[in-house]
Amino acid sequence: MNSSMERPYVVGIDIGGTNTVFGIVDARGTIIASGAVKTQVYSTADEYVDEVCKSLLPLIIANGGVEKVKGIGIGAPNGNYYSGTIEFAPNLPWKGIIPLAAMFEERLGIPTALTNDANAAAVGEMTYGAARGMKEFIMITLGTGVGSGIVINGQVVYGHDGFAGELGHVIVRRDNGRLCGCGRHGCLETYCSATGVARTAREILAARTDASLLRNIPAESITSKDVYDAAVQGDKIAQEIFDFTGTILGQALADFIAFSSPEAIVLFGGLAKSGDYILKPIQKAINDNILKIYQGKTKLLVSELKDSDAAVLGASALAWELKDLKD
Ligand SMILES: [Zn+2]
Repeated sequence: MNSSMERPYVVGIDIGGTNTVFGIVDARGTIIASGAVKTQVYSTADEYVDEVCKSLLPLIIANGGVEKVKGIGIGAPNGNYYSGTIEFAPNLPWKGIIPLAAMFEERLGIPTALTNDANAAAVGEMTYGAARGMKEFIMITLGTGVGSGIVINGQVVYGHDGFAGELGHVIVRRDNGRLCGCGRHGCLETYCSATGVARTAREILAARTDASLLRNIPAESITSKDVYDAAVQGDKIAQEIFDFTGTILGQALADFIAFSSPEAIVLFGGLAKSGDYILKPIQKAINDNILKIYQGKTKLLVSELKDSDAAVLGASALAWELKDLKD
């Protein structure tokens, strides 16, 4: 095996429902070069991988070439660590089972590992962020969807099939729950993702007549950022949307804490940056719903890493463990 002196870099690729971000990372966790492509615009996975490679390869060449790269780590929705495939990802345009790690390996000749994007974010947070030094925590990613990475005894939990930790698809409304991208109803993700917040905004605005700054925006184009901006300006309906969202999330987190008694829950993503508007109702709902033996023991933290960095660094960290292709 080559030492890291000979192969000083790894590549991290974070595949999100909207954007794919990638970076070349050194042994100290510094992203020395990075780029991005849109995820949704390519109808086939082949076209998509070609496009990522077209943007990534010049960066690799500018930093010494393929032979300087130890491996590629990918964080992807429904990524299976064991098989290197993404499988039936509801927020991606390609259906079925896609052998993404093998596709990158073939094109670039670099060994490649893949995991769930939220698991990758958890590894990044544990190595460089708010969960540094922790061996027991749960990462919750609040983006287009809701993802999670469960860390127990310093290890990401993958389960027997590679898919452990899909807490975004825990059902939080058994009756009349919202339709989820997974095909079921009432998943946490349908309420507490950025898109869930927008859905809540549309529902509340349609059901009520009181004034709101959000009524100045066409209902179908309201985003969670619009809700935040309105809340900051004192908009009561916007604040109510955050209360509703935070309460559902906090109730779910109280249940998650019972599963592994984590030292912390780390929230990641745009919604987590909405400060007390979202954190206060989350913390209140945790306190109101948690089993007494866990009361006050689990910290509620917000990621300390930039949105793109946590997942890219986390994905890249997987690659240090990889063996060279021709050993
Ligand atoms: Zn679901």
